[in-house]
Amino acid sequence: MTSFFNTKIDYLKGVGERMAQALRSELNIATYGDLLQHYPFRHEDRSQYHKIAEVEEDMPYIQVIGKVRRAELVGEGPKKRLVAVLQDDTGELELVWFQGAKWILDRLKAEVAYVAFGKPTRFGSKYSIAHPEMEVYMPQASEAKPLQPVYATTEKLKRSRIDSKAIARMQKRLLQLAYDKIPETLPLHLIERYQLLPKRDALLHIHFPENYMLLEQARFRLKFEELFYIQLRLLKLKITKMAKSLGLVLGDTKLVHQFYERYLPFELTNAQKRVIREIFEDLRSGRQMNRLLQGDVGSGKTMVAFICMLIAIGSGAQVAMMAPTEILAEQHYRSLEDFVDKLGLNMALLTGSTRKKARRAIDEMLQSGDLHILVGTHALLEEHVQFKNLGLSIVDEQHRFGVAQRAKLWQKNDAYDPHVLVMTATPIPRTLAMTLYGDLDVSVIDELPAGRKPVKTVHRFDKHRLRVFGFLREQIAEGRQIYIVYPLIEESEKLDLKHLQDGYESIRRAFPEAPVSCVHGRMRPADKDYEMQLFVAGQTKIMVATTVIEVGVNVPNASVMVIENADRFGLAQLHQLRGRVGRGADQSYCILMTDYKISKESKIRIQTMERTTDGFEIADMDLKLRGPGDIEGTQQSGILDLLVADLSKDGKLLQEARQAAIEILDKDPDLAAQVHWPILQHIQSLKKETINWSKIS
Ligand code: ADP
Ligand code: MG
Repeated sequence: MTSFFNTKIDYLKGVGERMAQALRSELNIATYGDLLQHYPFRHEDRSQYHKIAEVEEDMPYIQVIGKVRRAELVGEGPKKRLVAVLQDDTGELELVWFQGAKWILDRLKAEVAYVAFGKPTRFGSKYSIAHPEMEVYMPQASEAKPLQPVYATTEKLKRSRIDSKAIARMQKRLLQLAYDKIPETLPLHLIERYQLLPKRDALLHIHFPENYMLLEQARFRLKFEELFYIQLRLLKLKITKMAKSLGLVLGDTKLVHQFYERYLPFELTNAQKRVIREIFEDLRSGRQMNRLLQGDVGSGKTMVAFICMLIAIGSGAQVAMMAPTEILAEQHYRSLEDFVDKLGLNMALLTGSTRKKARRAIDEMLQSGDLHILVGTHALLEEHVQFKNLGLSIVDEQHRFGVAQRAKLWQKNDAYDPHVLVMTATPIPRTLAMTLYGDLDVSVIDELPAGRKPVKTVHRFDKHRLRVFGFLREQIAEGRQIYIVYPLIEESEKLDLKHLQDGYESIRRAFPEAPVSCVHGRMRPADKDYEMQLFVAGQTKIMVATTVIEVGVNVPNASVMVIENADRFGLAQLHQLRGRVGRGADQSYCILMTDYKISKESKIRIQTMERTTDGFEIADMDLKLRGPGDIEGTQQSGILDLLVADLSKDGKLLQEARQAAIEILDKDPDLAAQVHWPILQHIQSLKKETINWSKIS
């Protein structure tokens, strides 16, 4: 059955060896199955026509019928183009060709009604279509034309005459052969419950739908299937891991109580308490924990992590904590140092810049079991780092680590898989979290420590800079500190640096009374650290920086975050930066500076920042604006190669698919029941061939 879909594309009638080669190298289409899954990215409705007067901005592709009134070649050399005017009984629009201008000019006829097809763009009060497709208008023919699929191709393919239309012809031929052979890949009860099209009809209609409704039904079915199988896979992974991974039983709380009663400097928030309970249940269960801890910037994840460490250490295990940057690793180390000393525990810091001698000492203490806590960067993953009894691995800011690195931390204990706690401050939209971390349990700290006031966020234009500076002066006079952040704008680091240094100079001139620090990514770590420490100690009042300060740095006295060229930052980054302030008891401010002219999307980002401080709302908007592929850290995971589903839009469907997968695995974990036969079959065929499946783990 599957062998048919594994047939090499060369065997399809009309596809020669050369063409097959081109399809393989350009589009990764090697087999019948690959071709069928090369879904069109949109369809053209060639039965609808617009009057020219109806044309509006933001319209997708349109068709208008009209006669060509004027046509002339304008410009010289490479700028030479053909400009024609198309007229119907309601108005005129412009048609422009940059390529083949002369050839087209020779063929355009006056007094012939054409159908012009393309995407309109607005220029002042006029509309123009670049490189329209032109056909002589024939009334009867157009009515019979249903939705036309449009396929992705490449320039190289087009040169070998494999354009979208050619691919459509191949698909049609293949579907005729394949239709009867397409197996159903979902069990009947799911098809009935969600009213899904049969698989073969879904494939037929995703390519050649008779109308929009069928197209939608086809997409729905294929999306559901795609998400269902991803979730099924992740859930199965989790079940297997749980069944085979015994975890150390870490259930001793005496160290925690000691800390709690004597040294805990504040009352934990309810959210922190709840999350600690959830983690404690895992740690003492005897099964290996794999848990994601989500909490907005400043929600107090470090303290949660520390208390979990104390449970582990009190129960006789060692712990590791990994951060994505040296600065952050150091900050964790410093923030815990005091408590660790008081409790009489041993902790070490291991980063890329740890000297060899210190390294050796750390290795020895790790192996003897004398070192309780090892904090560091991915230097922790190196071969020589061997624990005597690693019980808990904590990964901060998981976003910056790949899934593979997370797995490496599991392998640091031969006898048991250590418990893993992954912490992330970048709020990941639920839909994305489910796909990326579907194999993890999730805990959320959804509450900030008491007394925090939400950061007031405002948008100011560059020309109001003097007023903004006046405000900064007032804040400094009241004893507050200020961040001023510059984006990485130019392609070249040199220009970026110049930009930052110009900013630094102008700040120094504007604030002669205030000492200013400057930090950027190209400084030596020691120098960076020195400047950072000056600011932390309050000796400098203004910190001019690039985004190196984005992650983790904690200066409670800093109350203003000024972001220059705020339109150049993504939403997630803006939110992270804003999280640097508002950590003390004072009212804090975030000032987003931009030029007068900014894009529509930038405006939405800035308005979102002004409207809310809720990290999850911001993350959802970010996902909507950018699409999931751009969310930091998701690219390397490979699981976002979705064919039809769109995580930014199909969140609800993802949840339903996940629920369906949960119910099935609950009843039939091995998928042995007769009704689940299609699932098992499909998984086996996926294992043999494809792409998505193998990338997930
Ligand atoms: P994040 O979740 O961003 O890592 P941190 O753990 O750095 O946040 O905590 C931010 C600040 O809040 C730290 O200074 C920390 O000491 C403080 N903090 C944490 N929990 C509480 C609490 N329950 N009450 C008051 N302050 C707290
Ligand atoms: Mg943190």
